[in-house]
Amino acid sequence: MSAHILMIEDEVDIANVVKMELNYDGYEVTLAHDGITGLTTARENDFDLIILDWMLPGLTGVEICRRLRQTADQVPIIFLTAQSEIGDRVDGLDAGANDYLIKPFNIEELMARVRSNLRRAASNQNSKNKNILSFADLTLNLVSREVKRGDRLINLTAKEFNILHYFILNSQQVLSRQQIFSQVWNYDLFTEKRVIEVHIRRLRQKLEAKQEKRLIQTIRGVGYILRE
Ligand code: CA
Repeated sequence: MSAHILMIEDEVDIANVVKMELNYDGYEVTLAHDGITGLTTARENDFDLIILDWMLPGLTGVEICRRLRQTADQVPIIFLTAQSEIGDRVDGLDAGANDYLIKPFNIEELMARVRSNLRRAASNQNSKNKNILSFADLTLNLVSREVKRGDRLINLTAKEFNILHYFILNSQQVLSRQQIFSQVWNYDLFTEKRVIEVHIRRLRQKLEAKQEKRLIQTIRGVGYILRE
């Protein structure tokens, strides 16, 4: 699927040339010629990248950039600014833009920036997804070790985190106490089954603190299972 790019630029001739070049390279392009239309279009659609002119009627580029970032929209933004406006470049990057080009720009340079920003966004997305595991409304961030049930942040001890991690990796499977013990405690000698029970009980108390549905269920005589 080709990337969908929004270009917000009031100089219609420039916008049309860029659109033609982008189309030629296989991108889908939407144009907006003023700030308000640009912001609305950006919010109502899911673009892969935005090329944003700085001086626009209605809303300036910096304003659009700030408003998009307020909503946690991480779409890559390349902004276009005039040679004389060094202050704009600082403001633009502060407002959350990813890259900039100085007008008049070389079209090949813009194409190269578009490709590199799309590539970077795709690789960020991949590493983000690899670091976050989820099951039902539960998410585990393996890097920050942050655990959430919906929007609620849950504080877990290292052991509790490791148990939950093991459950998520093996969701919908019955896990015996022996399995959990040897996995989480890195220890094969299974002596104290109460250790597991105590940890599971505490983990459930934290996961169900707001009367959420039970996810770690007991399978009598066998062990536990993570399921909805
Ligand atoms: Ca302009």
